Formats: sequence, structure tokens, C-alpha cells
Amino acid sequence: MTTTTTSTPSSPPSFAPSGSPVEGSALATAHAQLATAAEILGYDEGLHRMLATPRREIHVAVPLRRDTGETVLFHGFRVQHNVSLGPGKGGLRYHPSVDVDEVRALAMWMTWKCAVVNLPYGGAKGGVAIDPRGYSQAELERVTRRYTSEIMPMIGPDTDIMAPDMGTDAQTMAWVMDTYSVNRGYTIPAVVTGKPLAVGGSLGRGTATSAGIVHVTSAALAEAGMALSDVSVAIQGFGKVGSHAAEIFAARGSRVVAVSDQYGGIRNDDGLDVPRLMEHVQRTGSVVDFADADRVSNTELLALDVDVLVPAAIEGVLDENTAGSVKARWVVEGANGPTTAAGDALLAKNDVTVVPDVLANAGGVVVSYFEWVQANQTYWWTEQEIADKLEHRMITAYAEVSALAQREHLSLRDAALVIGVKRVAEAHQIRGLYP
Ligand code: NAD
Repeated sequence: MTTTTTSTPSSPPSFAPSGSPVEGSALATAHAQLATAAEILGYDEGLHRMLATPRREIHVAVPLRRDTGETVLFHGFRVQHNVSLGPGKGGLRYHPSVDVDEVRALAMWMTWKCAVVNLPYGGAKGGVAIDPRGYSQAELERVTRRYTSEIMPMIGPDTDIMAPDMGTDAQTMAWVMDTYSVNRGYTIPAVVTGKPLAVGGSLGRGTATSAGIVHVTSAALAEAGMALSDVSVAIQGFGKVGSHAAEIFAARGSRVVAVSDQYGGIRNDDGLDVPRLMEHVQRTGSVVDFADADRVSNTELLALDVDVLVPAAIEGVLDENTAGSVKARWVVEGANGPTTAAGDALLAKNDVTVVPDVLANAGGVVVSYFEWVQANQTYWWTEQEIADKLEHRMITAYAEVSALAQREHLSLRDAALVIGVKRVAEAHQIRGLYP
């Protein structure tokens, strides 16, 4: 006999208007950042509200028949924050703490990010409140296919294009693409990016976010007369973004002295052997217990005496309690929203340069864009072409943001937000308001 239960982490969310998000939450951080940009740009309340409010949202129930026969229910969301510059673009997250406000924040950041790196996209995001580690591959496939079919009216290669985020990967995107294509009756690779190469993925997509992080770090260091080979780096999060960032930093001569994941962290002040660490993680599923390293907690890692700190896990880790202890001179945000508004103020007070998420981790969406262009043309580029185009976009975007920051005496975050928000607002104004 089958039973139906509701999984605890995903109890029904509130659909209260997103005007007053919980203090310290991702949405509160996103709203505070937009408010600062709107003030610098002198926007009136009407325009500010329009930019703060998602265009479309969908909340879906995702029932799953477990391998045991039991039925459980999850909540899923897709939010299109803004589509003025093009179709919505943004990842799909599987994490137990996903709720509609988090997805709204992540969708808003995607809008500014795509605009900062000049992509013809709006911002979107999706999520299912599930801990993927607790489910088999077959169960995750069923969750993905059901979620995709529930949000089908909202997505498409010209309307809203998904990519992997926390807890999802290239295989997840293949399932989304297949479900969408089967329902349409023909193969539509451009409905997702971050797919496996065998079904129209792009060379370089798997490491693009991390490569972009290293490009902007290099540009920021160069402004201080330093190079990647001069610096030590600590990275929080050793998933798709953090692990490849560690690899690329190490390959370019940086000393990666500490890394962590959700189970804990490790450090070695002489530098970790990253290729061996990657093998260890493949084997054991965690960085913890790697030989030739000492244990360090996630909180301790944030306060290590390093040159560059890369938070590449979850939101809100640099807040009023932790940001004041950061000793790094540069924080390069691999994760989305790792710094709260209170954390940002503390980092600024201590002269820590923050390369913000909407710039620092944009490499992933840049190569997602390249993948979408290739899928639309059915013509594939070489890995070198992609690497060169990515580097050019990242360095150009960094230079624009940094020039504005210096000219107007802004932080890099405010400068990036001003550039992104202004491009979106201009598109609104030029297009006009329908009807
Ligand atoms: P992932 O699921 O591949 O890896 C997440 C990592 O964070 C894992 O190592 C996990 O153990 C760790 N983690 C989870 N909870 C943690 C905690 N409480 N403390 C410390 N570590 C914790 O995810 P990802 O794709 O690498 O994404 C990481 C971040 O980067 C997210 O904020 C995501 O939105 C952002 N991002 C990802 C991409 C991309 O292309 N994947 C692009 C831009 C931004």
C-alpha cells in the first residue's frame, strides 16, 4: 500500500508580497542592494518597485513515488524576475532550504548579472526544496521530470532557459531537456544549458564559473600590482564552483591553503595538493579526512589569514557575526549572495575589496549563453574559442565595473549593480509600458 507524506523541509511557503523579506535573508540582501543602486541612479519609487518585483512566479507541488513505494511531496518554484533584455535565464537548485523568497532573490541577481556581462537575457531561477543526497538517481530523475512537466508552460528556449545550480548537474539538465523535448515532439537542446556534451552541451561549461572567478581575481590583483602566483586562497564550498576554482587557482600558481564543504574543512599553509584532493573527494564524497591537512571549521575558514577568500557554497555566510573577522584582502564571491548587507558594511570598514557575485561568478552564465547560441546555430565552437571569449567578457566586465567604481567612488558591488540595474531600466524605458 502507498502512503502520502509531506516532507518537513518543504512545508507550504508563504506567498506574501516580497516587500518585507526576513531580515538577513537572501531576499533582504538583494532588496538592500537594489535600493542602494536605485538611490545612486536617482530612480523614483515606481521604477524601483518595478525593478524589485518579479514578472512571473510559479509554485508547483512535486509528488515523488520513492523506490520503496512510499509517496512524498516536495514544493518547487520557478521565478522570472525580469525579461526586458531577453528570455529568463537561471539555474535550478535542489536544496532543503529552498523557498520562494530565496528563489526570488536568486532570480533578481541573475537579472543584474546577465546585464553586467551584457548578455541578451533576463533573470530567472528555479528550485525544489529537497536534499538530493537523500534520494537515489532514479528518484531524482522522477522529481526532475515531474517538476519540469509542472513548470512547462513557463520555460522554453525563447522564454526561460535553465542551468545547473546547487544540488543539480549536467545529468539533471539532460532530464529536463528530454522531458521538455518529448512533450513537444522533437529535440530542443536550447531549453537548458549546462547539458552533457553528448546531447549538445558546450565545451568549457563545467569549469566556466570557476574560470571566470579566477579571471576577475587576476584583474583585481593586477590593480594592486600583484599576480595570481603571489597569493594564498581559501575556498568555502567544494562543489562544481569551488572545486574547479581550487584546481584553476592552483594551476595558475596560487597557494590554495584551505577548502571546505558542508561536512567541514581542511587547511595546509604550504598549499593543498589539489589534484590529489580532487581524487580524495571523488572517492569519499568530502574534503574531510584528506591526508596532509589539518581540520578547520567553515567559520574558521572565513577568518583565515589569506590574501583571497572565495565563498563558493551558500548565501549569507559573511554576516554581522563573521565578516568582521575576515583577514583576506579580497573576497571574491563564487556563491550567490554570500555577504549580507551588514556583512558588506563590515568588510568595507576593514578595507576588504569585495568582487561581487553578479560579476565574479558570471562566467557560468556567459558560457551558458555560448552553449545556447551554439545550440540555436547547431554549430559548435572549439574549447579554445570558448575560453578566449569567456576571458574577454569577464575582463571587459571587470574593467567597466572597476572604472565606474573609481570614477564615482563606489564599491565594486555598487558599481556592478548600478551598471546592471541601469541597463535593465533603460530597456524598460525604451520599450515603454504596455498597454
Ligand atoms: P554544488 O552543489 O555543486 O556545491 C555546493 C558545495 O557547497 C558543496 O561542496 C557543499 O558541500 C557545500 N556546502 C553546502 N552547504 C554548505 C554549508 N552550510 N557550509 C559549507 N559548505 C556547504 O553547488 P555549486 O554549483 O558549486 O554552487 C555553489 C554556489 O555557487 C551557489 O551559491 C550557486 O548559486 C553559485 N553559482 C553556481 C554556478 C554554477 O555554474 N554551478 C554559477 C554561478 C553561481
